[in-house]
Amino acid sequence: MQNPLFRFIRDLYNTSDFIPLHAPIFTGNESLYVQHTIESTYVSSVGAYVDQLEDSLANYCGVAGAVAVVNGTSALQVALYASGVGYGDLVITQSMTFVATCNAIHWLGASPVFVDISSISLGLCPDALKTFLDENCVVTARGCMHKQSGKMVKAVVPMHTFGHPVQMDELIAVCEQWDIAIIEDAAESLGSLYKGKCCGSLGTKYAALSFNGNKILTTGGGGMVLCKEKSAARYLKHITTTAKIPHSFEFEHDEYGFNFRMPNLNAALGCAQFEQLENFIVDKRVIASSYQEYFDGSDFKFIREPDYSRSNYWLNAVLCPSESARNKLLNESVEAKVMLRAVWKPMHQLEIYKGCIKGNLEKTDYYAKRLVNLPSSVRGN
Ligand SMILES: *Cc1c(COP(=O)(O)O)cnc(C)c1O
Repeated sequence: MQNPLFRFIRDLYNTSDFIPLHAPIFTGNESLYVQHTIESTYVSSVGAYVDQLEDSLANYCGVAGAVAVVNGTSALQVALYASGVGYGDLVITQSMTFVATCNAIHWLGASPVFVDISSISLGLCPDALKTFLDENCVVTARGCMHKQSGKMVKAVVPMHTFGHPVQMDELIAVCEQWDIAIIEDAAESLGSLYKGKCCGSLGTKYAALSFNGNKILTTGGGGMVLCKEKSAARYLKHITTTAKIPHSFEFEHDEYGFNFRMPNLNAALGCAQFEQLENFIVDKRVIASSYQEYFDGSDFKFIREPDYSRSNYWLNAVLCPSESARNKLLNESVEAKVMLRAVWKPMHQLEIYKGCIKGNLEKTDYYAKRLVNLPSSVRGN
């Protein structure tokens, strides 16, 4: 007999077709705004929709400025770069994340350091961070140094897993004591609130958002750096625009720049999506509470938002009682044509990152074997 979960998910999405993990919906002004960019010929990296999207998101998230870029990975990369992360540095993050977090660190010539997650948020654990720093690091005149390698710990990158906010006050307390900047990987958590404040507005100076096709708001491909200071946003705009000094006819570039600007075509899609963001979150939360009710009283534990937060429930997840129960469920889902997915393989288990410095990763390993993501698309009307 078929697992009743699949019947439940079919009812939730009211379809007999294949059910994807996360598909976007375009039920607002998407076509209209994209059409505008074509008619205006401003399809490339300058245009009114880019400015509008930056202003809308800076306002919404409660930060001083925002800079639109080509994807979330590049947003992370320039946020880290602007925070002084470079060749030979260390950046502490969680092993349970999407690989982009680590790749952004790697391509700056730095290395990720893995610290365990908390079972409260599934994001970076403040206690584990404190333990790692106490045991391995020392504060010097140049900042926090990892004693054994002599390398500097330049930043901590907590990631709000599946949209659930990390324990930020506790992380800030640890990072202040150790003189380390916090850069939020808020790729999954647009619209999530930590004690009433938006994810992406909680770190030291910068946060990264992603607008990839599978995120809560999509621009096709895209990302954004949220900046707590206007001057930081101006600098980010400068270096993501080839570091060109504005001039009416001459080319002058005052540092090694990036070409990471988001095209206006993509920003147009984003502006239309943004108008619907709060409605998307409402539906996400209805879906999440349906799942929660479904799993109540079973030995599959639905992952709930932490008490201090309002999560956007970007991706719903359930904790299976064992690895074998997880494998059974995933196998059944293929047959049922309902897309379920194992959580990412932890970064410290990937060949490319397995040599990285790490703390105790007990919880990461535990959750990695048991977490399954559930279909979470916003439903149309
Ligand atoms: C989606 C995502 C990113 C960035 O993704 P892009 O595809 O580059 O936009 C970064 N970190 C996490 C945790 C993500 O989920």
